Amino acid sequence: MRVIAVIQARMGSTRLPGKSLVPLAGVPVLQMVFDRARDSGGLDEITVATTTEPEDDLLAQLVREHGGRVYRGSAMDVLDRLYRAVGNDVVDEDVIVRLTGDCPFIDPDVITSVVRAIVDDPTCSYASNISPPTFPNGLDVEVMRLWALREAWERATEPHQREHVTPYLRENPGRYKALNVRCTLGNLSNHRWTLDEPEDYEFLRAVAERLAPGFRMSDVIAVLAREPDLAALNSRFRRNEGAMRTMKTSMDSRAPLRSITESDKWWKRREGLIPAGTMTLSKGPTQFVDGVAPKYLERGLGSHVWDVDGNEYIDYPLGLGAVTLGHRHPEVNEAIRRQLDDSGISFTLMHPLEVLLAEKLREVVPCCEMVRFGKNGSDATSAAVRAARAYTGRPMIARCGYHGWQDWSIDASYGVRSRGVPADVQALTVSFRYNDPASLEEVFAAHPDRIGGVILEPIATTVPRDGFLEKVKEIAHRNGAVLIFDEVITGFRLARGGAQEYFNVIPDLATMGKGLGNGMPISLVLGKAEVMQVFEDIFFSFTFGGETLSLAAALKVVEIMERDDYWSHAAALGTRLQNGFRELATEFGLADVADCNGLPQWTVVSFKAIGSSEPLVLKSLFQQELLKRGVLFSGSQFISLSHTDEDIDRTMEAYREAFKVLRFGIDNDCVADLLQGRPIEPTFRPI
Ligand code: PMP
Repeated sequence: MRVIAVIQARMGSTRLPGKSLVPLAGVPVLQMVFDRARDSGGLDEITVATTTEPEDDLLAQLVREHGGRVYRGSAMDVLDRLYRAVGNDVVDEDVIVRLTGDCPFIDPDVITSVVRAIVDDPTCSYASNISPPTFPNGLDVEVMRLWALREAWERATEPHQREHVTPYLRENPGRYKALNVRCTLGNLSNHRWTLDEPEDYEFLRAVAERLAPGFRMSDVIAVLAREPDLAALNSRFRRNEGAMRTMKTSMDSRAPLRSITESDKWWKRREGLIPAGTMTLSKGPTQFVDGVAPKYLERGLGSHVWDVDGNEYIDYPLGLGAVTLGHRHPEVNEAIRRQLDDSGISFTLMHPLEVLLAEKLREVVPCCEMVRFGKNGSDATSAAVRAARAYTGRPMIARCGYHGWQDWSIDASYGVRSRGVPADVQALTVSFRYNDPASLEEVFAAHPDRIGGVILEPIATTVPRDGFLEKVKEIAHRNGAVLIFDEVITGFRLARGGAQEYFNVIPDLATMGKGLGNGMPISLVLGKAEVMQVFEDIFFSFTFGGETLSLAAALKVVEIMERDDYWSHAAALGTRLQNGFRELATEFGLADVADCNGLPQWTVVSFKAIGSSEPLVLKSLFQQELLKRGVLFSGSQFISLSHTDEDIDRTMEAYREAFKVLRFGIDNDCVADLLQGRPIEPTFRPI
């Protein structure tokens, strides 16, 4: 196996003409690159690849005069130039080292370490120190097997892949196993030691004059530590601006933005009319990339929805988790229609459907000895909290998670949007942390005999660890409090009897909602008769309690879920979605940055900050690329009975494309620049 280095160099530069031959400490830049590459020792051959443009005649001549090899080729198709520069006397396993003539401070030891990475791992086909970069800009080294370079040369078609040579390899990490060499001195990627601008030249010249030939990266760092002002000479320029521009062009041709003009028109019409713009925060434009995402959906069918501009999307947020069977499920629609046509919607006395549904729920949900209905999740959680207070005679509530919009659940920790809830009321709710039973013990210790109810989502993004739910139950009961599982999302979703059945921890009370009506407004508070009896004495009463279309829908939904085994379907497709996401994250080297948490039936995609990119900016870019490819993505992903394997296949393709863009954005520290709209804003939680 041979190691062949190619230095790309050219004289043409709009900002710094003739840059390859300007002197640094008396040595032309290209010669400095050449000499330093040779110093690395492990290179069997070094070729300079320049263009056939007349302006590069002199450069080619000088290299030849010094006994170097020159190849002359295309100015724009740099991938072609590099591949042809390697010549014919090579075999598949040979290693090609790509260096650039505008990096005069290239470090011989860094070249050696990147070459060693690929040589030591026969399965590796591409190694670099730029994905993500941790070395100063200007110390970039990329090495690849000849066969990988040839495949890129044969297959890459897009401008950024031809102009920047290696994106094709990085965009297909499943085929080209990649390794990244990190800088042992820490993350120095904000240093700029490359030569593009006149100011770069000033900087490089000043540093080179202070050093003896053969200097290393650490010597440059030492100079800059002594004279920090030097770095300011060129610090205003950004890494890889050119690559970012060509990537944007490729992004547009891969998947153009969809038209959202009708959405925009509706949004304009509501101005001055609907404060905050939306009835439901999670549906509002703060949760979707503003300018890219549609704002109004018009219709749905099965697992797909269409916006007011006619764009189609695979729907994972599913009406914020409400549409468990899929939009316009024919049998549910028929049940609603029959109730509507043959019977009516709301009456002044009770309707027998209430009893029928209550009987069914007692059969289905483990904790259910008695049940009351509400319309929203907030109705149910607030009713449960009032019941717990009445039952125990205690005023305070310990909560963990999101439980709705009512006063009691907006405690002091909300910060944003907590106006209008008196501080005295806020002080009655205290929060504890998920998977941290000690935090619940602390809350009880801080408020002895004051806490009447403990309410939590049994699972919310992370799965319970080390018997957390059992411990919460034990702590709540030991301290005389009622345990309430907020199963507004998990009810009818994780299992027939909800999370309590799935985890086999039965609470005193539970609240359910989203899963039951296939989009119809119905919620439940249900539980042990002993506690539920207090509903005889508390006020929980409203006009639309017992509205019959929702009851008819709910009965039909449970019937279909049982008949078609909704839970196996949701688990199977959700597993594909979750595993697929995680496999792609790993393939793209982003497993530390992006994860798909939770259980397959309800997964939540989350991002961790990397470089200068904040989680919400990463999420925004990911969402943007999915929206452009027809996937409605809000972070929370639900599976309906109508989702198909084909939906998942299409989503995987969209994920893959989104990961390519994300990887590029992270490597070039330009995630925010690749956004074509305003990023998502924080909310209370992902849904
Ligand atoms: N509890 C949980 C766990 C929820 O997810 C939600 C809604 N996202 C609620 C309660 C409140 O339900 P609603 O918005 O229907 O009032």
